Amino acid sequence: TSFNDFGLHADINRALAAKDYTQPTPIQTQAIPPLMKGRDLCGIAQTGTGKTAGFSLPSIHHLLTYPHRPTPRGCRMLVLAPTRELAAQIAQSCRDYGRFTKLSVSTVFGGVPINKQIRDLSQGVDILVATPGRLLDLIDQRALRLDDVEIFVLDEADQMMDMGFIHSLRRVAKLLPSRRQNLFFSATMPKEIAGLADQFLNDPVTVSV
Ligand code: AMP
Repeated sequence: TSFNDFGLHADINRALAAKDYTQPTPIQTQAIPPLMKGRDLCGIAQTGTGKTAGFSLPSIHHLLTYPHRPTPRGCRMLVLAPTRELAAQIAQSCRDYGRFTKLSVSTVFGGVPINKQIRDLSQGVDILVATPGRLLDLIDQRALRLDDVEIFVLDEADQMMDMGFIHSLRRVAKLLPSRRQNLFFSATMPKEIAGLADQFLNDPVTVSV
């Protein structure tokens, strides 16, 4: 398989060429085709496997294929990550893969002033990468709404649970619109994580690497 076989938008293939990606990794080969069809996905994969490109490339393809402006204080794609480091890294990957597009990417996390984040979100963004606590703070301050999320990604679910984010995740689940594509990633899938996955996913394809 090569990246060209996936039918990704030309602006994405250009970014992949610029990054010298020639071969998709196993998680990318398994995950990208069902995601291109709009399926939900449950991925059991560790960091370092290429899962970030695995979920962001087809998501960026969707955003480009159905172009419209994000609503004010809204986002089209929401990615939740357990730590600010991971959130920043995912946002940077999305910027890289979307560098030949006009998609906007923002990241919000705790430990830094909230005012700039409120301003960043005011016009709406295409892709928002967030940690759960700050995401809910922004929602409570009416700086962010989740009604228009088209793609929801939960990354490193097992670490989210370990860090005590379960109640935050349940709150987020209630605020998401019912019509959306869901992607759920975890390095391990014990019972309680599988239960959490059930709350978010609708008839998912499961991939494991
Ligand atoms: P990730 O697991 O998504 O954090 O990716 C791990 C690293 O592999 C990152 O530095 C990516 O830039 C890189 N990477 C992801 N997919 C590919 C690929 N198909 N070819 C080469 N490098 C890749």
